[in-house]
Amino acid sequence: MTVTRFAPSPTGYLHVGNLRTALFNYLIARKAGGTFILRLDDTDPERSKPEFADAIQRDLEWLGLTWDRLERQSDRLERYAAATDELRERGRFYEAFETPTELDLKRKKQLNMGKPPVYDRAALDLSAAERDALRETRPGHWRFLLEHARIAWTDGILGEISIDAASVSDPVLIRGDGQVLYTLASVVDDTDMGVTHVVRGSDHVTNTATQIQIMAALGHDHPEFAHHSLLTGPAGEALSKRLGTLALKDLREQGVEPMALLSLMARLGASQPVELQDSLDGLADGFDMSHFGAAPTKFDADDLMPLTARFLSMQPYDAVGGALREAGVPDASAAAFWDAVRDNVTTRADIAVWWDICQNGAEPAIDPDDQTFVAEAMTLLPALPLAETTWAEWTQAVKSATGRKGKALFQPLRKALTGRANGPEMAKLMPHLRVIKAKG
Ligand code: GLU
Repeated sequence: MTVTRFAPSPTGYLHVGNLRTALFNYLIARKAGGTFILRLDDTDPERSKPEFADAIQRDLEWLGLTWDRLERQSDRLERYAAATDELRERGRFYEAFETPTELDLKRKKQLNMGKPPVYDRAALDLSAAERDALRETRPGHWRFLLEHARIAWTDGILGEISIDAASVSDPVLIRGDGQVLYTLASVVDDTDMGVTHVVRGSDHVTNTATQIQIMAALGHDHPEFAHHSLLTGPAGEALSKRLGTLALKDLREQGVEPMALLSLMARLGASQPVELQDSLDGLADGFDMSHFGAAPTKFDADDLMPLTARFLSMQPYDAVGGALREAGVPDASAAAFWDAVRDNVTTRADIAVWWDICQNGAEPAIDPDDQTFVAEAMTLLPALPLAETTWAEWTQAVKSATGRKGKALFQPLRKALTGRANGPEMAKLMPHLRVIKAKG
């Protein structure tokens, strides 16, 4: 059975970059009828915050990326302790004492000598007495002893990968203050929970190499791995600095439609074009990891609003019923009003804007050259309420009276009634007008 997981650390809000990871893992599980786990990587008690854990769940629920199981690493510390015992017994775990400053110095020296900055394993040469003496002065941290061989796997996106373990530092699995680090916790969880597919960003490729060895040291096979490329801005610039402004909660507040965002994300960086889907099932059906490439993927937040508008215009009125009611549109008018405005809303919030124009009247926009024309036209407008046929009849009458036609006829009348040069088909809007401010 296919089991995937999305494993954010609750140390901040989810952004579009995280969403890619969440969505891919969700779609793989859904497509296979498997299990999707939301795992909160919260072993860092200082940086992990309950409000971020809540916000992550709220964001995923907004998108409909619902999980079958919720796990928290902070509930599983005993499992991690058992795994460290095993690694210790197998001679794959050792205590080291270098301070961050000492490590930094070592790295600088190596770089100066043109060597890769890999931990030199000096701690392995310490005698028991030296270790005891060091432990008096500072807490020790624990590293996994990598086997110096090539680590290879077939990546679902990157293809054949092979990394020389000797080019990687022995990973620290437990910090000096006793905190279990992600590398170990993730390995234990992925094996305990039967995770079959791990999709994550390409910044995790080296982690994957070390995790494959840790899994093997604990007697386990590793899941399938796939590393998606990282997102960049529209001009290829690093997105990391802007991710704060691309938080999912902000996009939600701006009125971005979940399916617009998800449809874009499911295809960005893939060889297939973006296809606006109505449901996550539709996205899952068309999802194929092999269509994604290794190159950095450009993301342009400006694409979201046109897609949102397009998604909304395709919706039947009952799909936007909540927004229609919130705007104050009576149920009896809802279907007709939605039909009038559906092609002229960018977000659901625009429904209220058009309803307000209809109910409370718009400040007329009248060009100086059109003052007399509009005033004459208004004397020909029948009394409210108007009907769908009113527009054709009225403009015909105005045409006969003034001799104007085409744009010169229609445009000033639209601007007089709605205050705007663009908007819904006037015939469909007329029955909903309750106040008209332009005077005859
Ligand atoms: N908590 C890790 C992160 O957010 C999870 C990475 C993984 O998927 O293993 O980067």
